[in-house]
Amino acid sequence: FAPWTDPASKPFISFRNVTKRFGDFTAVDDLSLNIYTREFFALLGASGCGKSTLLRMLAGFEQPTSGEIILDGQNLAGIPPYRRPVNMMFQSYALFPHMTVENNIAFGLKQDGMPKADMAERVQQMLKLVKLEKFAKRKPHQLSGGQRQRVALARSLAKRPKVLLLDEPLGALDKKLREETQFELMDLQQELGLTFVVVTHDQEEAMTMADRIAVMSHGTVVQVATPAEIYEAPNSRFVADFIGDVNIFDGALTGAEAGFVQLETTGGIPIRMMSPDGFAKGTRVAVAIRPEKIRIGRQTPAHAPMNTAAGEIWDIGYLGDMTVFHIRLKNGQVIKASTLNAVRAVEDPLGYDQEVWISFGDDAGVVLKD
Ligand code: ATP
Repeated sequence: FAPWTDPASKPFISFRNVTKRFGDFTAVDDLSLNIYTREFFALLGASGCGKSTLLRMLAGFEQPTSGEIILDGQNLAGIPPYRRPVNMMFQSYALFPHMTVENNIAFGLKQDGMPKADMAERVQQMLKLVKLEKFAKRKPHQLSGGQRQRVALARSLAKRPKVLLLDEPLGALDKKLREETQFELMDLQQELGLTFVVVTHDQEEAMTMADRIAVMSHGTVVQVATPAEIYEAPNSRFVADFIGDVNIFDGALTGAEAGFVQLETTGGIPIRMMSPDGFAKGTRVAVAIRPEKIRIGRQTPAHAPMNTAAGEIWDIGYLGDMTVFHIRLKNGQVIKASTLNAVRAVEDPLGYDQEVWISFGDDAGVVLKD
């Protein structure tokens, strides 16, 4: 059950026409966004797109220049950070170096004046949650990066916030540990039934963890959708290009019939592609096709010249599970095509400089207005 698909369900967090200016620079630009309870939500975008600023406004460290932020029915205007039911975990973790793990976790509880016995119990719970029971008496410098990350997580969860905000939570971990920790975070979020809002510039991380992703650019949200929708049905050239690898064919529409469009690309390739959008003849469009949807063959495909082009293999990248080919077409355009090695014909491998045909089905790509 996905609450965002149900128009009757009430958002838990609402940004309503939020703008944030620093001097004459607009970091967040009239942004509206809804996040639902128990959602694992990712704000994804390149450095400087305003994602941290958005998170910091939710936490209360920055005030919007205009617009409002509603959390659980409450307008957050004028409410200081420590009185908001949110907690933020920073990339730097900001652990106190002179305090033990348990004292780091207890810090916020102590400040709130929680009775000693309750506090000890809560700290124990948190240590168990992040699997650090044996490390309670250690100091941060006696821990690995992954363990420090878990202490920071435990500390930010100790006060049982309704929402946990995570700013690049896994940025300091190496690739393998980062991937493991992604699944741990997802398990934890499920187990606690909390709403997580995570800021990341790492699209794979967002795709793996999030229920939904907001792709941001220049202080605005370009698309909000599930990882699969973002990948398979990007709403713009920007999103298609930002998420994963993609081949873009530019051209102007030469014709349209029910559910399909036809165009000739600037490189001279005739394309027929499924498209639910009704575009007018002459409209400049971009057809975005993922590398795994491009077929490579030795013979001219039966549907030539439609959706096909001749070229030669320019580069081959072996990635273990798959191989990525760069194919230079006769028109000079370089196309990326990938094949799964588990299904590749091993007895007849494709080699450098080999003449090939690329082709794709009329459902392989997305037609986007340029
Ligand atoms: P990163 O991934 O690099 O942290 P981001 O998408 O999180 O990037 P923000 O930190 O939200 O970006 O910053 C958005 C823009 O606002 C940037 O251009 C930044 O320089 C600017 N900015 C942020 N904080 C301030 C500030 N206090 N004063 C002036 N400009 C700021």
